[in-house]
Amino acid sequence: MGRKILIIGGVAGGASAAARLRRGSEEEQIIMFEKGPHVSFSNCGLPYHLSGVIKEAEDLVLMDPEVFLKQYNIDVRVNEEVLLIDRTKKTVRVKKSATGEEYNETYDKLILSPGAFPIVPGIEGIEKVNIFTIRNVVDIDRLNRFVKNLDTNEVTVIGGGYVGVEVAENLSEAGYHVSLIEATNQILRPFDYDMVQIFHKVLMDHKVDLILGDKVVKFEENGVVLSSGKKVSSPAVVMAIGVSPEVHLAKEAGLTIGETGAIKVDKNYQTSDSDIYAVGDAVEVYHALTHSLTKLSLAGPALKQARTAVDHINGKNTVNKGYIGSSAIKVFEYNGASTGLNESMIKAFNIKVNYDIVRIILSDKVGIMPDAAPMHFKLLYEVPTGKLLGAQAIGKGDVTKRVDVIATAIKFGGTLEDLKDLELCYAPPFTTAKDIVNYAGYVGSNLLNGDYKQINVDQVRNLVENNSIIIDVREPGEFERGHIKGAINIPLSQIRGRMEEIPKDRPVYLHCRTGQRSYNATLALQNSGFTNVYNITGSFLGLSFYEYYNDKVMDRKSIVTEYNFN
Ligand code: FAD
Repeated sequence: MGRKILIIGGVAGGASAAARLRRGSEEEQIIMFEKGPHVSFSNCGLPYHLSGVIKEAEDLVLMDPEVFLKQYNIDVRVNEEVLLIDRTKKTVRVKKSATGEEYNETYDKLILSPGAFPIVPGIEGIEKVNIFTIRNVVDIDRLNRFVKNLDTNEVTVIGGGYVGVEVAENLSEAGYHVSLIEATNQILRPFDYDMVQIFHKVLMDHKVDLILGDKVVKFEENGVVLSSGKKVSSPAVVMAIGVSPEVHLAKEAGLTIGETGAIKVDKNYQTSDSDIYAVGDAVEVYHALTHSLTKLSLAGPALKQARTAVDHINGKNTVNKGYIGSSAIKVFEYNGASTGLNESMIKAFNIKVNYDIVRIILSDKVGIMPDAAPMHFKLLYEVPTGKLLGAQAIGKGDVTKRVDVIATAIKFGGTLEDLKDLELCYAPPFTTAKDIVNYAGYVGSNLLNGDYKQINVDQVRNLVENNSIIIDVREPGEFERGHIKGAINIPLSQIRGRMEEIPKDRPVYLHCRTGQRSYNATLALQNSGFTNVYNITGSFLGLSFYEYYNDKVMDRKSIVTEYNFN
């Protein structure tokens, strides 16, 4: 008989660790404890049960204890909670939830993967509403059954992170009227404010009542009261304001808790006790770009950490390169993906890095393909090295491919120059022959070389209000269908013959639909002796998305005659 290895938590990290342990040896005795009724379920798939994309709640469960036993000879004990760890005796105390019976189990090695629990703040009147949190199959089934039996279709979701937005989207798809309340001025922090406006608009288009910059201060009978005084009536409230690592077992056992409040581990995911490992949402990890410790609630890292921990238990060499945080989301017909640093992270964490951005909009496929659509892409790079720092992509097509390429490049220390040279797969149904990722490399290296200057769409309102000279280089028909108020229309096709209309003694800001034609116009002017010319990156399409949501909710004067979203 080999060693006896216990695992606490039977989902992402725990189940991966168990399977990897078995692949390493037929001798080990492996026991996995899970306090809930299910192991190995798809946490990430939970919201999709609300819309019926995943029909039955049981479909979310990928493997049951019998299969673990038959296929892997792993002893899985569901509905059994580990209450405490005795490190001196090397035992855990376990409680069976069905009978209340308690017993001890010894271990040679112990792996903790207890995850993180949803935060429910003690807001006044919380007992007056039906509060739901989403962590497991039981939670989603409970919410689904509850809303189905309501005699109103109002549901409120608090928190605009990934879980809140996915729950809101899926409830809305199921026909409910959803109010999504977020205390800050934007949802989905992995995206910068300029990019996330696309999602704000998409939610609005789908009649989700998105309430930003307003906080829940108390609950009333079947309703929520916000700091603005606004009341949202809703018998069901989903609390999705974030998660907190499950550390109580580790803390009670005297294991070191890190500066972030999560379990402290070394590069092999070994805790302060060399016989106890910890992985997943409960641990703090090294962020390879901020060079600091952080908490990360993502499935991929949990699985990879489980593999590393098991390899170390088995005496194999392990390498820990840290994490950069790559994630993706679908919001109705739009997809988003992000990796690494974004501008708001750099500001929020006061990261000392000199950076610039590339913000481009290109067709995600060859334009003549019927389902080709614009993809909004933002890349952050270090100045002057050109080292890649992060990327965000939003569009109807395959954003994950593009962001995955950047995530890979960042992990390998890639630069703008590397992007120019990447040979990526191409055929018209998938991408374009020169992909957005290649273009990002071209644009970034042009900017880094000082070939031209740019401003982002978030500065345009200010330009309009200050009567700056904005030249729209689109064709007259496009201009007539909607343009920036006060902009002058000099199409790229005419610009060389009309240069005398453009002043040389004032800054001139050029735009087109996506920034490509205005880039060409910018260079044409520069090559003709203009020195104070800027390309508006993101251009009219980016500007329309950037302005729309705030125009509507703030009821403010639009700076465009008509928006363009296509
Ligand atoms: P979990 O997978 O949460 O497993 C921990 C388990 O441990 C729990 O089942 C818990 O009951 C059990 N446990 C805790 N304490 C004890 C104890 N004392 N005794 C016995 N059992 C115990 N990540 C992504 O990367 N992409 C996504 O799209 C995504 N979507 C998500 C959607 C939702 C709704 C949720 C909730 C999470 C999502 N995540 C997503 C996050 C991802 O699921 C987690 O990062 C990942 O599951 C963490 O793995 P873990 O093993 O640390 O914890």
